[in-house]
Amino acid sequence: MATYEYDCRECGRFEVKLPMGRATGTRNCPGCHRSAHRVFSAPHLSALPAPVRAARAREERSRDEPDVVTAVPPKPRRAAHPASSRLPRP
Ligand SMILES: [Zn+2]
Repeated sequence: MATYEYDCRECGRFEVKLPMGRATGTRNCPGCHRSAHRVFSAPHLSALPAPVRAARAREERSRDEPDVVTAVPPKPRRAAHPASSRLPRP
């Protein structure tokens, strides 16, 4: 099953799950039963790793309202390699 998106002029966008290749160019809106046109949008990206999803979400949020930065952000700490805990200490 694939998710297809349609845009109704009265009710807005809605999604329909259909077998792949079965989507038509128009579909009746479930709200007002008028004809809605199919909309092509980005596929669901839930299979991406969590850091990539978080970065994409942050980018999406900052598109219209960027975060205000008043100071230089702290340098991110790098995680120590697991083998470094077994090294001899001075
Ligand atoms: Zn509608």
